[in-house]
Amino acid sequence: MGKALIIGAGGVASVAIHKCCQNPEVFEEICIASRTVEKCEAIKNKLAGNRTIIHTAQLDADNTEQVIDLIKSFQPDIVINLALPYQDLTIMDACLATGVDYLDTANYEPPDIAKFEYKWQWAYREKFAEAGLTALLGSGFDPGVTGVFCAYAQKHYFDEIHSIDIVDANAGDHGYPFATNFNPEINIREITATGRYYENGSWIETDPLSVKKVYDLPEIGPKNIYLMYHEELESLAKNIKGVKRIRFWMTFSDNYLNHLRVLENVGMTSIEPINFEGQQIIPLQFLKAVLPDPASLGPRTKGKTNIGCIIQGIKDGKPKTYYVYNICDHQECFAEVGSQAISYTTGVPAMIGAMLMLQGIWKKPGVFNIEEFDPDPFMEALNKWGLPWQESFSPTLLD
Ligand code: NDP
Repeated sequence: MGKALIIGAGGVASVAIHKCCQNPEVFEEICIASRTVEKCEAIKNKLAGNRTIIHTAQLDADNTEQVIDLIKSFQPDIVINLALPYQDLTIMDACLATGVDYLDTANYEPPDIAKFEYKWQWAYREKFAEAGLTALLGSGFDPGVTGVFCAYAQKHYFDEIHSIDIVDANAGDHGYPFATNFNPEINIREITATGRYYENGSWIETDPLSVKKVYDLPEIGPKNIYLMYHEELESLAKNIKGVKRIRFWMTFSDNYLNHLRVLENVGMTSIEPINFEGQQIIPLQFLKAVLPDPASLGPRTKGKTNIGCIIQGIKDGKPKTYYVYNICDHQECFAEVGSQAISYTTGVPAMIGAMLMLQGIWKKPGVFNIEEFDPDPFMEALNKWGLPWQESFSPTLLD
């Protein structure tokens, strides 16, 4: 059916590429392009023998001209951006210059400061609309599947949605006393940021990790969940009409937070350079060097993730509650594609979003967040491609 240019060769890209190769009718030919071409070649070699034809290319996606040249030579039908959030705009510019559809899994971030805002990418709406091109933003899990879950609830179960609580739980255990699932610098920055949620048209700020509850999650059990800001809150507040409150919660164990607190207290999470025996070092970078490499956690992580949306509202004049969630097992993911559940739950939805765009099922001119498309084909594909979901109509609610 089509050709996809996949930019990035990290954890998420590796899963998405495995899934494209399981789906050769749609992904006939792909090109894996990234900064370190050896990583692209390693993925290609692992998947040799599949029907999908795989090419590789070295690419600095910060350079729009390089992306344009590669698009011109490979002639893809879609560009799947699985590099880092810093590359979103250069890649969108290249898509506009060459007339190709675009998909990503994370909002654009200016390199110097974490913002978690869509404004830069939403500013491309008219340009994509005028060019007759589709840009799908945030086709991972959160953002991604969580937005599809909300659109599905709105379409099938509610006349009015009043509140949404997104709960992201990871009960995976890698056996180390302390390690981060992804880049420690980004992880620590996210966790120590101010919390924020949407209520009655305003954004309410909370001190970092100051709002904590216990929630009993299916197949995982009771866990401490902490209120945090997450980027999909911004688009859902606009796109789920009439919603009064949206919050995002994530699990952290006491052990994890204790280690983090000690590291912060002794200055190891600082990004201010210090002089150590005549050498300038940044404590957080030194800490990253002594911590386990997140990529090495895959083979040793046991347990499950559970990510879902608890929704409250009105149907036919009566109050209604709904909980829709996916449970993913770290070891099963590793056995299937060689990555743990964090990359798996992002790489599978990236493939599904791209598949629906290539099939012409999700195709409209402009820049869209995922909840702006018909959720039904995506929900069906989640069941088929490894992220089956479950629903309950009597969940415990978060007050
Ligand atoms: P990794 O760090 O594992 O991989 C990133 C890849 O991008 C690497 O291969 C890296 O190359 C490549 N890259 C970085 N800069 C450039 C550049 N300038 N040009 C070309 N390639 C570049 O990250 P993940 O796979 O974990 O994450 C990928 C994306 O998915 C991120 O944007 C992340 O925020 C997002 N994400 C979204 C989630 C969701 O649920 N929506 C959840 C998790 C992640 P190199 O190998 O040389 O470093």
